Amino acid sequence: MSPDFIREALRRVHYPGFSRDIVSFGLVKDITCEPGLTTIQIEVQTADPQVPEQIFRACHAILDPLPDIGHAKVVIDVKAPSAPAVGGDVGKSSIPGVKRVIAIASGKGGVGKSTVAANLAVALAATGARVGLCDCDLYGPSVAQMFGTSERPLANEQDQIIPIQAHGVQLMSMAFLLDGASPVIVRGPMATRYTQQFLRQVAWDHLDYLILDLPPGTGDIQLTIVQTVSVDGAIIVTTPQEVALIDARKAMAMFGKVNVPILGLIENMSWFECDAGKRYYLFGDGGGVREAELHGVTLFGRIPLDVATRERGDSGSPIALLPAAASKVSAAFHQTAAALRATVAP
Ligand code: ADP
Repeated sequence: MSPDFIREALRRVHYPGFSRDIVSFGLVKDITCEPGLTTIQIEVQTADPQVPEQIFRACHAILDPLPDIGHAKVVIDVKAPSAPAVGGDVGKSSIPGVKRVIAIASGKGGVGKSTVAANLAVALAATGARVGLCDCDLYGPSVAQMFGTSERPLANEQDQIIPIQAHGVQLMSMAFLLDGASPVIVRGPMATRYTQQFLRQVAWDHLDYLILDLPPGTGDIQLTIVQTVSVDGAIIVTTPQEVALIDARKAMAMFGKVNVPILGLIENMSWFECDAGKRYYLFGDGGGVREAELHGVTLFGRIPLDVATRERGDSGSPIALLPAAASKVSAAFHQTAAALRATVAP
């Protein structure tokens, strides 16, 4: 019996509520095999006492029947979930009315992060889930435009902002709150405080998934967001070429430092398909696929480069609103949403 064998066996233990296993999440810290005794050291960061209990039971269910293992001792070290928020004194907390929070991030701008976030939200809603999309990009908000709305949200009696409804998605954007003020003057610690306040003041109506469209890059605002609210995981959007992948790696490293699991990657602009059906890999073939393999994370989908996708983004009618049979890009977004849903149950 070797630690490697035990580690492989533990890949069948899922993190509660996720289809990802505890090994790929990096929670198995140490395995020692002595004659008659196998000790497994696991570390989880959670405030929910059921999580370590379920992991403990699931580990024993897998390990106990193994021959030659002797006594299996599963030791779970439970750590408090939150690090103090950057630039503020507000700790991480879950968002009322929201079951799952998924951050969509990218190492750099222009890779199609907002396009992916918008279409993923629409495609997830089409699976029957209740979905919200929050544009957290103070300096370049685009979600309202992509959903074709210029409506201003109203406040409820508790002074919370009521999200706008568009294309079956509850929508909120930091741009709605600027009230004409130029985002350029909201900088540094002020931007951080503003973001924290914003995230806590929205009256989401019973969401299965809240998609956070993070600003591009790996700065303080991104850290503030993922440390202000309890984010279930992050998805990194990248294009296939090396210069984009370098920045995607930086984004993955940032989430690793603040213990936000990387759920996986989405490769955007993967190829262009001409009318004759030939594919042109303008940014190289398979960069996202290799990157996902390298980091042991899921590649949720590959989204082609497509004129209609850009046009429909500009005109406020995301391509994922089309039936999958009518558009290969819409089909790719619906497959991506199904893969995400299978990974993170609501
Ligand atoms: P980011 O949020 O990463 O800065 P955007 O989502 O704003 O990027 O996309 C940048 C531009 O690229 C937009 O004009 C958008 O319509 C376009 N775009 C994004 N993804 C695709 C795609 N798969 N096919 C065609 N155009 C796309």
